[in-house]
Amino acid sequence: MTETRDSKPILQLVGVRKTFNDLAAVEKIDLDIMEGEFFTIVGPSGSGKTTLLRMLAGMEAPSEGNITLHGARINDLPPNRRPTCLVFQSLALFPHMSVGQNIEFPLKMRGVDAAVRKARALELMAIVRLPASYYGKNVMKCSGGERQRVALARALAYDPEVLFFDEPLSAIDYKLKKVLEKELKDLHRETGKTFIYITHSLEEAMVMSDRIGVMRAGRLVQVGTPEEIYTAPADRFVGEFVGEVN
Ligand code: ADP
Repeated sequence: MTETRDSKPILQLVGVRKTFNDLAAVEKIDLDIMEGEFFTIVGPSGSGKTTLLRMLAGMEAPSEGNITLHGARINDLPPNRRPTCLVFQSLALFPHMSVGQNIEFPLKMRGVDAAVRKARALELMAIVRLPASYYGKNVMKCSGGERQRVALARALAYDPEVLFFDEPLSAIDYKLKKVLEKELKDLHRETGKTFIYITHSLEEAMVMSDRIGVMRAGRLVQVGTPEEIYTAPADRFVGEFVGEVN
């Protein structure tokens, strides 16, 4: 989606703050994330991106403020009770299992019948552009890029409303990164799900996102479309950051 005007917020943050002892990792954030948008949180290391993501995913509770999902407060709702799924940077695939078994794992947990599971796994493999012949292949025999696709397919098998991506492309070489950026963008369009993506690379954010939130030292210093951020950086920090893209 490129137009967010008519959609409703799925996640809302009001005065969300997170402190660790005396340190404010995230400072009073107010933010609406819209249904179906590709929202990227971008900022340098230590700016609070991961902490914000962990609160949205339910791995940390805010110290202050409220997070709502479809209008209901979810501050303390654990990750497994949220319609969200985190695609781990480290992939966290089951190394002893095949591609198919990894992808089917969420369906197996839900008691879905084996034949239905296999059909769905093959559908998901097609969506993430993995050849059907990989179904029985051990994940450890797959390349880094292929494992990334398996992790994505498994995340989609949970059928979450929101997918979180924690720097999924950071350890991937430039050429493959460009391919995967396009595929993630296509995947977002095809699934219609809300994608929340974190990265320290503004270039990555610019290419894929409907909107970008720029973080610095725990604060959300600007929220806007890539075009808005590029043409009208909110302050010198964002301007310098945007300058790095050129
Ligand atoms: P980013 O993802 O942008 O690199 P983080 O959210 O990981 O930033 O960290 C923001 C700040 O909060 C950093 O100063 C970090 O050291 C601190 N921080 C994050 N998690 C914890 C924690 N569990 N305990 C103490 N400090 C933390």
